[in-house]
Amino acid sequence: PKHPLIAGNWKMHGLREAIPEALAMDRAARDSRASVAIFPPSTLLYALSEALQSRSEPSPVRLGGQDCHKDAQGAFTGDLSAEMLKDAGADMVILGHSERRHGHKEACESVAAKTLAALRAGLEPIICIGETLDQRQEGLTHAVLSKQLRDSLPLALEGQTFHVAYEPVWAIGTGHVPTDDQVVDAMLLIQKHLAQRFHNQVVPHTLYGGSVKPDNARHLLSLEGVDGLLVGGASLKAEDFNRIIAAA
Ligand code: 13P
Repeated sequence: PKHPLIAGNWKMHGLREAIPEALAMDRAARDSRASVAIFPPSTLLYALSEALQSRSEPSPVRLGGQDCHKDAQGAFTGDLSAEMLKDAGADMVILGHSERRHGHKEACESVAAKTLAALRAGLEPIICIGETLDQRQEGLTHAVLSKQLRDSLPLALEGQTFHVAYEPVWAIGTGHVPTDDQVVDAMLLIQKHLAQRFHNQVVPHTLYGGSVKPDNARHLLSLEGVDGLLVGGASLKAEDFNRIIAAA
């Protein structure tokens, strides 16, 4: 079985004073069979990469961006390209997070274009999908997830290493975790889609995200189809995140 992937999305949290937290997470990652990745705000990428790689034994912790532009450069004030993230020390990127789909009106087609940009720059993408509470209550979960998969994942992912995260919007930052059946149902839908559409040498990790905490991490990881976790709030402090890493 593949090593679980434990990913920490810091969102818009973290000043330079958070660097020691990442170094403490590095110590936990060294003792774990899990792959560990941190997605800090872009302003911290270079400093974190320097801090992690200047250790006597290079760090197993991978770094990633939280979004990228589809183009490599240009007149796009405020945006960052995949190449820039790579240059700053990232080797992964989160794309299509619900906070970008909903807060920044990002469409699936835009996520697909950004995925191509990530591949162009040599970044491993984690593409996020997930239904809202309204969509679930209207019985649209399967239709929404299938459409997001079809339109956000470009065919160019064939043969590439990438991952998909299932993050029900109503579970993000709310403390509401879906039932085991709801999680497994979504993970199997994703895995079936990936198996039908892509024939990759590296089988993608399917991650669960949304109110993952030290106390529920082990259980979530035990569910069928859950190959890893995408953690928001509980990835900010080593005290919490290291317990999640240890649970893997
Ligand atoms: P929380 O873990 O804070 O619910 O956030 C989940 C998330 O959005 C990770 O990308």
